[in-house]
Amino acid sequence: MTAQDFLSAVSQVIFLALFVVATVRLVRRPGWATLDTFLFFAVIAGILVAGDIAALLGFEDDPTLSVVNWVGIAAMPFLLLRLVDDFRPQPIAIMAIATIAFLGVALTGILVPQPWGLVSLVVVVHVVALGAYASLAFLREARRSNGVTRRRMQAVAIGSGLLAVVLLLVGVTVVVPDAQPAIGLVNQVVGLTLVVAYFVGFAPPAFLRRSWQEPTLRALLAEATQLVHLPDPRAIARRMEERAVAATGADGARVGLWDEHAAVLLFDGPDGERRVAPGGFIAGRAFQAQAPMFSSRAERDAPAHAAEYRATGIRAIAAAPITSGDRRLGVFVVYAARPPLFTDDVISLIGLMAEQAALVLRSHELLRGAAQVRAMAEVTRLKDDFLSVVAHDVRTPLTTILLNAELLEDALDGGSANARRASSLRTEALRLKQLVEDYLDVVRADEARPARREPGDLVSLAREAIDGMGQDAARVSVRGDASVAGTYDGPRIQQLVQNLASNALKYSDPSASVGVGVHADGADATLEVTDHGIGIPEADLTLLFERFHRGQNTDDRRYGGLGLGLYICKQIAEEHGGSIHVTSKVGVGSTFTVRIRRWAVSDEPALDEATPDEVAS
Ligand code: ADP
Repeated sequence: MTAQDFLSAVSQVIFLALFVVATVRLVRRPGWATLDTFLFFAVIAGILVAGDIAALLGFEDDPTLSVVNWVGIAAMPFLLLRLVDDFRPQPIAIMAIATIAFLGVALTGILVPQPWGLVSLVVVVHVVALGAYASLAFLREARRSNGVTRRRMQAVAIGSGLLAVVLLLVGVTVVVPDAQPAIGLVNQVVGLTLVVAYFVGFAPPAFLRRSWQEPTLRALLAEATQLVHLPDPRAIARRMEERAVAATGADGARVGLWDEHAAVLLFDGPDGERRVAPGGFIAGRAFQAQAPMFSSRAERDAPAHAAEYRATGIRAIAAAPITSGDRRLGVFVVYAARPPLFTDDVISLIGLMAEQAALVLRSHELLRGAAQVRAMAEVTRLKDDFLSVVAHDVRTPLTTILLNAELLEDALDGGSANARRASSLRTEALRLKQLVEDYLDVVRADEARPARREPGDLVSLAREAIDGMGQDAARVSVRGDASVAGTYDGPRIQQLVQNLASNALKYSDPSASVGVGVHADGADATLEVTDHGIGIPEADLTLLFERFHRGQNTDDRRYGGLGLGLYICKQIAEEHGGSIHVTSKVGVGSTFTVRIRRWAVSDEPALDEATPDEVAS
């Protein structure tokens, strides 16, 4: 086997492999582009196989063979041109001239047995010119695209350029048969290079795709860090759409954001917002199926929306869902008037971009959530600072007002209108003082006060606290064990009982009664305050013990308050090694349960809390 034979054999094997790949693609995704690719490689394979079969059977000189070659050679650049036209429309004049020329050349080959001479020269020039045109068109397309598609286009452009060279050399040997031996080897080398270029372009191996894709992936990741800082998801969507158009060379791209409440995909467009239900259009279908989708003829694949696709000139669509874990965030769509040459690349690129979009949108969501939490904390801090100043400044004049109101009330005749006014003045001043005290308590509690525990009885502490509530005490009954001994911070426990009992009274009908239950429970004590008042909405239950939180059903004008009482109660319970819980039903009533440790007089809290092992060691 000569070197020339070897080169020729390698080229033939690769061309046959490409023919098989093109056939599989045509079966999997029938369309003009896949059909023309198939025909192109079929013609080449046909020429090669026909030559081999003829050589095997000894028909090398049969005129039919030269007719087959002639028609095949004329068809090759024509099919290449059609391929270019399949995804980027070429001028109609060029297509018309190419078609007529191809038919003319083919017919000449069939009808004229030995069309050499001037005719051959014209044919060679025509075929070479078409090949060169197709090669340049691919090159232009390569420049417009990005990543894998760009490299593949470049390879196809090089292959097509070399094809033009091969056709030129063949033409030279036809016109000048003596040049055959010299040109033969050169042609084989160029032919092999061309076949490798086509292989890289039409069926690139996985490792090449990966290495070509890497810069795109890096760019996507680098960009993701900037995109998360955009003001809102729509702005992110806009930028990603621009990127997708640049990366795929498509006519347009759209990101549909999933609106969970309305259960629609929202597409922002130049003519306003567009709502697409899951399952509607190709985009909605990809979202519903949670799988990428491609359609080379949207109007056929989504007939319900055919009119709209036709009106907008959209034929080919690739869509991929944007999903992060279980969270469905939207769908990524690119579209064009014609299907892309390398459909698989576009689908995989859109898949990557949808993944990037998911990452960016989810990160954006989390960042926004964190910023909100920070803002809330800042608001609370500002409120704290402001109220601390106010509370301190208000306390002294308030004490004076209260004192004078009491003196005035005592001095006036109990039944007179002025006495009632003085009494109301005292009550309101007292209420205001309570608010201020509450607030200052919170500030103090935040500064971590040490627990001052002394031996005592929880039942007595509760009774004293209720008795200290003045007239309201009549509506509160204390029940439970006769005594619950332990060590307690007395004033703080009384504050806890008063806070809970006054809430129970405040949020109930003025005639309704309130129950306080005190029980010993092993090393613990429980204190329960039950009312039959307005109750607490479920959404508030977990937030009640936060500072400044007030229930949704607590109208500021009707029920005054700052939302600090329960926060203080929680602090007091925790100071006593315990906790506070609430069960409530709107319109039925609430029960607040405090469970605290009742360390015995002789017990050291540290020992009591230690595990048996630690005590023993
Ligand atoms: P304030 O009563 O000053 O608003 P609290 O911290 O004592 O502050 O209570 C927080 C919120 O919890 C109240 O605004 C109210 O919505 C709800 N709440 C507390 N106790 C009761 C109760 N016994 N019945 C109904 N709602 C209550």
